[in-house]
This record gives sequence, structure tokens and C-alpha cells, in this order.
Amino acid sequence: MLLWITFFVVGLTVHVVFFLSIFDIYFTSPLVHGMTPMTTPLAPPASRLVLIVADGLRADSFFTLLPNGSSTAPYLRAIIEERGTWGVSHTRVPTESRPGHVALIAGFYEDVSSVARGWKENPVEFDSVFNESRHTWCWGSPDILAMFAKGASGDHVYTHAYPAEEQDFASTDASRLDSWVFTQVKSLFQSAKSNSTLMASLLQDQNVFFLHLLGIDTNGHAHRPMSQEYQNNIGLVDSGVAELVSVIEDFFGYDGRTAFVFTSDHGMTNWGSHGAGHPSETLTPLVAWGAGVQTPHKVTGDQFYQDGYLQDWKLEHLRRVDLNQADIAPLMASLIGVPIPVNSVGVLPVLYLNNSDLFKAECMYTNAIQILEQFKMKKKQKKETTLSCVNLGLVYYHTYDRFSLGCSVVLGFVGWTSYVVLVILKTHTSLNMHPDILKQVCLNPIRNTHYVSELHG
Ligand SMILES: [Zn+2]
Ligand SMILES: [Zn+2]
Repeated sequence: MLLWITFFVVGLTVHVVFFLSIFDIYFTSPLVHGMTPMTTPLAPPASRLVLIVADGLRADSFFTLLPNGSSTAPYLRAIIEERGTWGVSHTRVPTESRPGHVALIAGFYEDVSSVARGWKENPVEFDSVFNESRHTWCWGSPDILAMFAKGASGDHVYTHAYPAEEQDFASTDASRLDSWVFTQVKSLFQSAKSNSTLMASLLQDQNVFFLHLLGIDTNGHAHRPMSQEYQNNIGLVDSGVAELVSVIEDFFGYDGRTAFVFTSDHGMTNWGSHGAGHPSETLTPLVAWGAGVQTPHKVTGDQFYQDGYLQDWKLEHLRRVDLNQADIAPLMASLIGVPIPVNSVGVLPVLYLNNSDLFKAECMYTNAIQILEQFKMKKKQKKETTLSCVNLGLVYYHTYDRFSLGCSVVLGFVGWTSYVVLVILKTHTSLNMHPDILKQVCLNPIRNTHYVSELHG
């Protein structure tokens, strides 16, 4: 019985240690701090950037044409055909809103240690394109906006979110969340006409406008991506973007200095979920156009991609440029000339840039140096940790026998003290004794014990 109890306790302990080791080994922050932000020394092509994220929009729902040959997003389809560059942005698991936005805007794949905090807070401070911008105006869900406002140093990231509890106002029609965002953006530009401070800020360069559109995701969860509600919401976003572009271009006097990026944080499965690594969840659309962005590139031959999507989407004739989700961060930073976020691991997708070879080369160099800075910092930290371990080892061996030697010395001293006490006692006791009696006691202590008791008595 005792054997089985011991076996059970040892088995349980071993499994608990194995379980905790996973957190200790894998759930650590990949981020390092203390790097210098890197900027390209050349003038950027755009003064401002508009980032539109259609939450939960999967690539095939966006690119596939309807049975009648029309598109669910006719305005953005026309952009792909006539004005911009397009591709598939490959996201990583977990395909959730927070890690998706962190990859897009900060350029790294979410810090896994934040799982323990439910992705609500920033467990580790990180840099982002918003933080590096001069001003960023954001509209959308409070869950997403809060983490970038909180992570930004200073007060140059302005958030306009509907209260979390009021997300229910769209319970009957989630696309109203998106209409709310478009209305708010338009009213900002409208109010700038009577607000000189706001007007001055808007006219500066290195500004970002971020629209987070949650309607498609909410409709996908509620009605699934094949539903009419999901499809209609894509149409609503498309017409909203068309109107937004005309409002912005009109506001800035058609100066041709605005860059636009339209994408999604993750996709969605046919049954209305996301989080895992199915292609319906990891493949998201990307369309970029405007200042500094490459115009459509006609292709006559075969393209590099063998996945069949080009044929399915009827886009074989236009160059497709796929990228990893985190690559969008250095692209946005290069377009408006702000430093690439210091923790970014994104690689600049050069084919999206419409600029001189010198500019592209400088941007690639900045990108390489910026990633190298992280490598150097990580190496330095590891070196310091290793050196401190080596120093600890040196101290350990230097003081290896100090304890046993100390014990020996203490024991020796105790022995010596005892000997001294004994000698003193012996000497003092012999002073009160008659030498003959003492002699007899010493010669035959057992036989003569009564003499001793007599003496003491
Ligand atoms: Zn999302
Ligand atoms: Zn969702």
C-alpha cells in the first residue's frame, strides 16, 4: 500500500514539474529592450497613412467573385486592378484579434507570455508604428485600441472607441459597428475645419489614421462566413472605404501624399470560429495603394504561386505579392518615414514600394540594421547571463573547502579550549589534596573511592 502511495506522489510530482517546465521554457517574452530606433535618411513618399483592418475578413471571401462575376468589394477590386498592389497576408496562430493587430502594427508575433493575462494588458511594453508616428487617430473596438494607446509613450495616440458594453447596440446588425467608425472619421475631418489646433496636427507629416472594423468578425461568428450578413458587411466596408478615401483626398487637396493599407487581422472557419491554423483562418487579404505604393503589375506568364487561388479569384493577370503579417509594419513605417518599431521582425516587402532603387536599398538597409540591433541586444544579454554564471562558478570553487576548513578550525579550537579547561581544573583541584592521598587515588582509583568521598565529605 505504502509503495503505491509513494509511486502516486512521485508520479504526480514528475508530471507537475514537466507541466511547469513548458511555461518556463516557451512562455517567455521574445522581446528585448534598449535598441535605438532606425530611420531611413531619405524623404518618404507619403505624409500620412490610412490603415483599415476589417476584423475577421478571410482572403477567399474578399477575393472570390460572386456567381454573376461581380465582386463583394467592387471599389477595392478596382483598386487591385488599377491603382495598387495586392497579395495574401499570412498570419500565425493563434489567429486572434490581439496577436493579429500586434503583428500588423508592431511587427512581431505576439508575446506568448501574455496568454497568462488573457491578452488584455501589455505584459511587456512594445514599440509600434503608432508609437513612432507623429500623431495617430484610431477608431474602433476598445479592446484593440486600448493596447496601442497604453503602449505608446507620450500622448500622441488618440482613441475613439464605442463603450465596450455598447457593442451590443449592434446585436441585431453588427455592420453598424463599422458605420459608427466611418461616421466618426468623417466628423473628425469635418470638425478640423473649425478647430485650428486639430487642423495644424492633421496637416503635419508622419500621421496615421487607423480604422478597426469589427462588424465582419461579429457577423461571421453570429451567422458564419457564407451568410448573406457576412457578405453584405464586406460590401458595406467596401463602400465605406470608397467614401473615406474621397473625404481624405478632398481634405488634403488631392496632394497625392496619402498611402492606404487595407487588410485583416485573421480569417474565419466555415463554422464561424478562429484561433487555429486552418488556411481559412491564416490567409487574409492585403491591398495597398496611394503615395509610394507600386501600381498594378500585369503578368502574362505563370506566377510563382501554385495554390490555385489566382485562378479561383480570377487574378492571374495581376502580380500577387504575398507576405507575412509582421512585414506590414516595416512597409507602413517606410511609407511615412518613421522608424521601424524596434521589436519588429518584419521584412520589408520591397515589391510593394514604388520608389527609386536608392530609396528601396536604404529602406532594406534600415530594416536589416533594425533587426540586427535586436540580435546584438539579445546576444549581449545572454553573454551577461553566462558571465554571471561563470563568475558564480569561480566563487563556488574558490570557496569550495572553506566550510570544511572552517569546521576543522572551530573543532580544533573547541578541543584546545577543552584541554585548557581540563588542565586548569586538574591543577586547581590538586592544590586542595594531600599529596599521599592523591597518589593513592591516582594509582588505584576504584579500590580507594571511599578516600575521595571522605575528602569531599
Ligand atoms: Zn479579430
Ligand atoms: Zn472574432
